[in-house]
Amino acid sequence: MKRQPTLFLSHGSPMQAVDPGPAGRMWQALGKELTAPAAILIASAHWETALPLVTGSAHPGTIHDFGGFPRELYAIRYPAPGDPALAREVEGLLQSAGITAGIDGVRGLDHGAWVPLRWMFPDARIPVVQLAVQPSRGTAHHQALGRALAPLRDANVLVIGSGHTTHNLREFFVERSAPAGTPTPYAVEFATWVSERLEAHDTDALLDYRERAPHAARAHPTDEHFLPLYVAYGAAGDAPEVRTLLEAYEGRSLALHSWMFQ
Ligand code: ZN
Repeated sequence: MKRQPTLFLSHGSPMQAVDPGPAGRMWQALGKELTAPAAILIASAHWETALPLVTGSAHPGTIHDFGGFPRELYAIRYPAPGDPALAREVEGLLQSAGITAGIDGVRGLDHGAWVPLRWMFPDARIPVVQLAVQPSRGTAHHQALGRALAPLRDANVLVIGSGHTTHNLREFFVERSAPAGTPTPYAVEFATWVSERLEAHDTDALLDYRERAPHAARAHPTDEHFLPLYVAYGAAGDAPEVRTLLEAYEGRSLALHSWMFQ
């Protein structure tokens, strides 16, 4: 059985669901390139919990967790089945690693999960289990989640972290009223730093990004959108091969940078 890579995807705004742009085109190509996984485990920035939880529903609903967008977005469904057995396996792997975890039998898939997945796997046949992030517990905790889940790759499970390489929405909305232009330097410097540290397998620097990365607090006023990176990177094992899937920006400062690890 083929070993699956892991992915960190910047999911962009919910509008990516109907207007794919560079990220959507990359997701479409990626879905065709990957060996079809038996299931997908996706950590989304849009589900924040105190303890790690996974979705345990056999039929997770589609959550439209955003406001003020065109009505067509609210009509979208991503009817992929869940995978209660995988949810139990995830819970067990985390417990074995000393991480208290649980299953939420009701929760559906939020747009951090279904926006990229509907381009990658449009027929929605591959079962999806979602994993929450714990913003109060920082980067090392999320790397530990990924490490504990690494065995899933050998069971043909595709582990994805869905967040954003930079995510300062306040600046993004201010900029949107200004003329389009080149990417804002702080976002470029931050995204470049992340890319270089990943390539160098500089895990210590990555884990300490809020102290060491240029403009870290500006790039991530809160870090829930960055934490899924550590799940994907942690699940890839030591010194993974790093492939850049996308270097692009939504507006001038939302970096959509995305990577594959294997
Ligand atoms: Zn988001």
